[in-house]
Amino acid sequence: MLAVKDLVKTFPVRGGFALSGPVQTVKALDGVSFDVARGEALGLVGESGCGKSTTARTILRLTEPNGGEALFDGADLFKATGADLRRLRRRLQIVFQDPYASLNPRRRIGDTLAEPMKVHGIASAREWPDRIRALLAEVGLPPEAVHKYPHEFSGGQRQRIGIARALTVGPELLFLDEPVSALDVSVQAQVLVLLNRLRETRNLASVFISHDLGVVRYFCQRVCVMYLGRIVEEGPAEALLDEPLHPYTQALRAATPTPDPKQKVTMARLEGDPASPLNPPSGCHFHPRCPHAMERCKAEIPLLKQVAPGRKVACHLMDQR
Ligand code: SF4
Ligand code: MG
Repeated sequence: MLAVKDLVKTFPVRGGFALSGPVQTVKALDGVSFDVARGEALGLVGESGCGKSTTARTILRLTEPNGGEALFDGADLFKATGADLRRLRRRLQIVFQDPYASLNPRRRIGDTLAEPMKVHGIASAREWPDRIRALLAEVGLPPEAVHKYPHEFSGGQRQRIGIARALTVGPELLFLDEPVSALDVSVQAQVLVLLNRLRETRNLASVFISHDLGVVRYFCQRVCVMYLGRIVEEGPAEALLDEPLHPYTQALRAATPTPDPKQKVTMARLEGDPASPLNPPSGCHFHPRCPHAMERCKAEIPLLKQVAPGRKVACHLMDQR
């Protein structure tokens, strides 16, 4: 349904003392490609700053891409304008990490949920109250919520409102940008159950952005691992997380405590800081932190190649298998 190919996003950055230096170009996304099938949940994982959110924002044209294409049911999101773009946007929605920051504090929930229907001309104003009540029920909130303001809700309830708002226009794909990261663990589980149910009842596809591998394993069927603007590994969620092939995915896995309290927690911390996109390492971006780095890794960018059915890895080690 969504096919993203060679996505490039650059940002101009002025460096030097008091930002007086020359303008540099930072490559936030460097040839990102993936696709999402109808009803599928694809996880996008990696440390903060690797380009996960930028990927979502660029596909949605919240920020303009500098290269590549994004086809949605064959229609190019990057070439669409005017009414065509508006129609496409209705089909792809985003839910943010911090629902409080994305809800207008002075607006009642009923008005917040009516707004997208007004913008997209969905149904008539007379039908909105019924639709809003149905949406609230669908996300597990009482009908009285329409009269209330965001501050009257808990974090988990606010995230349910954020999800309801995304659903008002009947999307087919949701970008979920760290949707449960700001919530307590018990509340996280409830919101994940809700999202999972919506995926089933609405056959809703999603791109689930997260740094929490446990949550990704629960929610996603497939996973892409990103490192400094590139996808370094892709595969089915369970296979990729149980048996990671890329040294970066292996390090991420090792840095995640195992959920079983009887098992020894292997907190092999990830060595070094993620390199800066301002000055990315040559060749394989991961080479300064990689325990297997070879001479070749400093010079040559490893391409994302299929190494087994459904599994792709960008690492020179794969040539030696
Ligand atoms: Fe490590 Fe080289 Fe593979 Fe990069 S290409 S992950 S540096 S072995
Ligand atoms: Mg982010």
